[in-house]
Amino acid sequence: MKEVILIKDGELSLKGLNRRNFEDKMVSTIRRRLKDLGEIKITRAQSTIYVEPQSEEFDFEEALDRVGYIFGIAAFSRACVCQKNMDDILLKAKTYLISTLSQVKSFKVEAKRADKAFELKSPEICREVGGAILSACPDLKVDVHNPDIVVNVEVRDYAAYIRAGQIKGAGGLPVGTSGRAQVLISGGIDSPVAAWTMAKRGLTLNAIHFASPPYTSARAEQKVKTLLSKVAKYSGTIKLAIVPFTEIQEQIARCCEEDYFTLIMRRMMMRIACRVSEKDECLGLITGESLGQVASQTLPAIAATDEVCSLPVFRPLIGMDKEEIITISRHIDAFETSILPYEDCCTVFTPKHPHTRPKPGQCSQAEKGLDIESLIERAIAGIEYSFIE
Ligand code: ATP
Ligand code: MG
Repeated sequence: MKEVILIKDGELSLKGLNRRNFEDKMVSTIRRRLKDLGEIKITRAQSTIYVEPQSEEFDFEEALDRVGYIFGIAAFSRACVCQKNMDDILLKAKTYLISTLSQVKSFKVEAKRADKAFELKSPEICREVGGAILSACPDLKVDVHNPDIVVNVEVRDYAAYIRAGQIKGAGGLPVGTSGRAQVLISGGIDSPVAAWTMAKRGLTLNAIHFASPPYTSARAEQKVKTLLSKVAKYSGTIKLAIVPFTEIQEQIARCCEEDYFTLIMRRMMMRIACRVSEKDECLGLITGESLGQVASQTLPAIAATDEVCSLPVFRPLIGMDKEEIITISRHIDAFETSILPYEDCCTVFTPKHPHTRPKPGQCSQAEKGLDIESLIERAIAGIEYSFIE
């Protein structure tokens, strides 16, 4: 039996004139993500995208799995292609749906007829298909108000499709429709969740990570790459910049008052992230900060880091509790990696009594002893780039 994947877009229906662009982006993403599974034909009609495999070898299960990671998709399902006559529709309704229907107690049938010349009207299609299903599965009941599963029949221009139930999609907007931003990624729980949350709103991601060897290890860098690959399953390829941060941290430790170490370090990170963003055409930064979670995430501390930022900083987790963040972390399969105990540069040179309420201007006073410009230049010159899939 020939099958297709039917894909329903979500918020795209709200986008008026931009709709076409959004759909184009989603179709090109679907094409790219399924490319290596075999040839496909993609068509669209009335907010549904049809993915039709063109060969027997096409890995249908793997394709369904991958579609679940594409932002912009509200729901999707596998459907059987029928000839446009009731005999074939009834035959397929009985055979194709049987294994799904054997797992439920009640159902109802909904029919849509794009081809108004079709031999039966929608209510008649529902009645006949319902009858055929009941004759094949006598234990099933029809429940029009609260069915366990909905069987859909759609009669289109060139074919009819039947399916039972649908799978919830990844939601959000197609990646790339909101522009490009740079996530500051650590090996922790929060920043991969922040990256995922913003990619869900249609941002293409770049990533920047600050590494301080020998205080931080190669394993810590590998951990960051693994975390990004979890996000990239949803967002597509991520360009990663690894910035050598050792000299900056050592200079801060040598030249600045201890209570300000973390704040000054975070300001250096932000300055460098803004610089790298300019080169890579990112229009915003993303961090995993959550208000009050640690000393550097109080409102005055966040204000002190924003003082040196020339780009908008997105902090999608700012109002979330750790538990809420962990739920998403598990959902994107990042949690088990995030909790591996490798050190981050934030955990070396930590002050005993970090400043939590810096007043405006205090941080710039405290970092007076640093040659900020040449430190930034040397760090940027030492960046190593890679692409994470
Ligand atoms: P996370 O779980 O994301 O590490 P956290 O709660 O440990 O966050 P901090 O260590 O204060 O918080 O870091 C706050 C944010 O700063 C992180 O969410 C991340 O966006 C960024 N950040 C921290 N360390 C690094 C690093 N080594 N490289 C790049 N960005 C970093
Ligand atoms: Mg951290």
